[in-house]
Amino acid sequence: MFDCVLIHYGEIALKGLNRPFYERKLVENIKRALEGEEYAGVKHIHGRLILELSEKSDTSRIEERLKRVFGIAWFAFCYRTKADKESIMRCVEKNIPFNPGEKVRVSTNRADKTLPFTSIELNRELGAHLVNRFNVEVSLKAPEKEVFVEIADGEAYIHTQKVKGLCGLPVGVSGRVLHLLSGGIDSPVAAWLLMKRGCEVDYLHFHAFQRFDERWNAKILDIVKVLNRYSFSARIFFVSFHPFEIEAVKVPLRYRLILFRRYMVRVGEKIANKYGIAALSSGENLAQVSSQTLENLSVIERAVSTPILRPLLTYDKNETVNLAKQIGTFELSIRPYKDCCSLFIAKHPVTKARLEDVERIESGMNLNEAVEASVEKAEVVEVKEAL
Ligand code: ATP
Ligand code: MG
Repeated sequence: MFDCVLIHYGEIALKGLNRPFYERKLVENIKRALEGEEYAGVKHIHGRLILELSEKSDTSRIEERLKRVFGIAWFAFCYRTKADKESIMRCVEKNIPFNPGEKVRVSTNRADKTLPFTSIELNRELGAHLVNRFNVEVSLKAPEKEVFVEIADGEAYIHTQKVKGLCGLPVGVSGRVLHLLSGGIDSPVAAWLLMKRGCEVDYLHFHAFQRFDERWNAKILDIVKVLNRYSFSARIFFVSFHPFEIEAVKVPLRYRLILFRRYMVRVGEKIANKYGIAALSSGENLAQVSSQTLENLSVIERAVSTPILRPLLTYDKNETVNLAKQIGTFELSIRPYKDCCSLFIAKHPVTKARLEDVERIESGMNLNEAVEASVEKAEVVEVKEAL
């Protein structure tokens, strides 16, 4: 049975004075990810974390949970012993199975430089011992099994497998964004990428439903629950686009989509200001569709003074689709959905909108009223479960 999990964090190590804050967030997030799991505690040693297991720990579930925590570079289920050669040899012998002829390599890494032996010495001696004891071969270049010995604070952590983590930064170290979430493939991926850089994400969704029970649409809720695997809990602001729809009939069809986007970010900005959220974000991309041009993106931005983050700006669609599959949102995103954007689809949408034209068209609409009415009727729901 394993004693503990050794957890290495990547980029956090670079963060200088902020480092204790980043480490605390990571520990907090690991604990949230492991809610309901059996383990004995999490502690810091020398720039790594040790998750103490208990007899009842379910290691495969713990592995699945840790794979969803941003900020972890890699982790390993370990046996632990005292940091002297004798104990290390005994511990390896007792816990790690070897087959005769197997190609083995020992890799030692010491955070503790006060020990009376070097890493290379231990690699050689432990390697030679395994050759004698189990008839294995040492192969530094192409090992079939690598025995890792990591030494820190007078103890040795022994394992044979590093599990790759998500990397990135712990959710919560970079502040909060209000993310425009549609029912499509792109926007959930964009939200996930923001989490990867340490953002907490709240969602703003515009819906085309009239009936109350339809509004708490299962598809959007399910997408958020999948994203909660990585960020634990979130608020969704559900907003009816109806006040805009009434105004949109007054303007040429080819302008409706870009006007809708300007309306969405205006509503977003008001909600963000009310809740102290510093930025908006979206799943927009450059040139994925003919309306996503630099000119159009710029006209959308000019509607607000809050920054709009677009993590997918430079992604190819297939890169986004692959990520959606990895994250777990793809299957949900392709479920049929009554999306409001579809009501504004024109055969020839404006592709190089000019701000003067857009502002002139908007001046013929009761846009402020539509924005106010939408903000006023926004319904907020807190989603704490993960799917
Ligand atoms: P997605 O797959 O996210 O829908 P898309 O490529 O289909 O992206 P569009 O439909 O053009 O793109 O929308 C661009 C972005 O506008 C979305 O990524 C999302 O951020 C935002 N958006 C679109 N529709 C809505 C909506 N109903 N509610 C909130 N945001 C929306
Ligand atoms: Mg869409």
